[in-house]
Amino acid sequence: MFGEGLLKGLGVTIKHFFAPKITEQYPEVKPKLPPLVKSRFRLNREKCIACGICANACPNKVITVNSEKDENNKKRLTGYEMNLQYCLFCGLCVESCPTKAIEIDQDFELAAYTRENTKMDMYKEALTNPPGTAAKEDKGGKDA
Ligand code: SF4
Ligand code: SF4
Repeated sequence: MFGEGLLKGLGVTIKHFFAPKITEQYPEVKPKLPPLVKSRFRLNREKCIACGICANACPNKVITVNSEKDENNKKRLTGYEMNLQYCLFCGLCVESCPTKAIEIDQDFELAAYTRENTKMDMYKEALTNPPGTAAKEDKGGKDA
């Protein structure tokens, strides 16, 4: 029939015109993300034993762990860097950590203008953004 496609198209338009609007008011309102979304890493320096298991578990060599031996010949964390441009956000590092020192949450605002800025100094970052920080900052979008 002549114009059948046009009528179908109009039907779709009219249906959506009266349907409830789902526009998200980001960035004023953070979106409610599915529970399995993984994004920002957070390191707990007190819990980290500098074993390097997370770095070995990472398939893309994103993590660099630096350590030194203390007076008791025990490893002490001195640096922890993540080169996020290669990260798959698979979570293997988090799962493999024996002390639960590294966590991943849904704080997704990680955009950077340069590759250099995708490198995260987690050792320093841990002082200002330890695990649990995101939940305190923004209760709206984390418990989807
Ligand atoms: S999430 Fe996966 S790719 Fe990213 S640092 Fe962890 S193990 Fe590596
Ligand atoms: S974050 Fe966990 S797995 Fe990685 S070095 Fe620290 S204790 Fe070991």
